[in-house]
Amino acid sequence: MKRGIDHLEVGGQSVFVRVDANVPLVDGRIRDDTRLRAVQPTLNALRARGARVILGAHLGRPRGHVDRTLSMAPVATCLSGLLGVEISMAPDSVGPDVSALVRGLRDGEILMLENLRFHPGEERNEPEFATSLANLADCYIGDAFGAAHRAHASTVGVPGILPSVAGPLMCAEVEALERATGQPDRPYVAVLGGGKTSDKIGVLEQLASVVDVLMLGGGLANTFLKNFGHHMGRSLVEPGQSAVVAAVREIAKKSSCRLMLPTDVLVAASPVDDASVAVVEVDAIPCDQMALDIGPDTSAMYTQVLGSARTVIWNGPVGVYERAAFAKGTRALVRALADSPGFVVAAGGDAAAAVQTAGLAHRMGHLSTGGGAALEFIEGRDLPGLAVLPDA
Ligand code: ADP
Ligand code: MG
Repeated sequence: MKRGIDHLEVGGQSVFVRVDANVPLVDGRIRDDTRLRAVQPTLNALRARGARVILGAHLGRPRGHVDRTLSMAPVATCLSGLLGVEISMAPDSVGPDVSALVRGLRDGEILMLENLRFHPGEERNEPEFATSLANLADCYIGDAFGAAHRAHASTVGVPGILPSVAGPLMCAEVEALERATGQPDRPYVAVLGGGKTSDKIGVLEQLASVVDVLMLGGGLANTFLKNFGHHMGRSLVEPGQSAVVAAVREIAKKSSCRLMLPTDVLVAASPVDDASVAVVEVDAIPCDQMALDIGPDTSAMYTQVLGSARTVIWNGPVGVYERAAFAKGTRALVRALADSPGFVVAAGGDAAAAVQTAGLAHRMGHLSTGGGAALEFIEGRDLPGLAVLPDA
């Protein structure tokens, strides 16, 4: 447990709040404001206690250069609308103009700093940049779980200088992930999908060593099926993963983890909506077809396992869920997770999007907004942005 905001005197103080505001933008418009909605309670609580809030965040990958298309201004406007209060927008994240704006803040007011990653010092965690940020504030709140696996100036540098606590979102993420990985109730089940195997080696190996059942889907499962001797046609199969597949299989065997792969799949010539599709067994995939979703038998089998699970971790869709024609398996999975009697943690950008689309976020035990950070946590790695914050 991390020390939370109740342990911080914030009234009349300038408080640097690092949030995760990395929302998807299309033509300068915010396509999904889930992350901004999530920080609302934190900001309301701080405002009610008279804090002078300095919001720090990043958007996209400007790589240390000013990129006007990645300005935080739309974020400030959106947050301002959600909270129903004015949020002023700083022209930069450091410098005399920003300091002047901070000095002008009154109790309960909010200032949004410009994209932290416009400065190369942010991602390099340069002491000068961290010090400039720290000089703006009296204390620090780390509430960007999605950035906690990065040792950047705003996630590690500043809390190393100022009195710091973890924000409510950070605390909620840690609590849920600890519950799902510490002493989980059993049966303990993991579902892993997504495109690439190489992205998820650490999580695969870790989960295979602790869960009772590991169910695979998506492109990840294709790679396993291929290495188990199936002909995968033109399916997405990642080359060079045979050692990983063998290792996961071996770990699962040693730990009495039941490794489950699809027995049937939905195939088509390409992942387009109007493709003609067919359900085939995994040993009968035509050579000119691609496996793009799990089939109904696999869905039923996975649903049944989830029906008696007590703890579940899910990451990665089990098909090309962006296309309606191949979204059925993922939709059925989300349903089964919602109906599962277990404590369910859904982690990852695409997993979270699938849950949101289904309107079933409220039926999950926890929906992690931080994909990469959640996976590193599940893997058992130390997150620098978390480790730097003091324990309760
Ligand atoms: P998450 O964001 O939940 O961690 P990933 O980013 O690992 O998930 O994977 C999501 C991607 O995997 C999606 O874009 C999806 O289209 C792709 N995918 C899933 N199944 C397949 C498949 N059978 N073939 C090709 N791509 C797939
Ligand atoms: Mg993704």
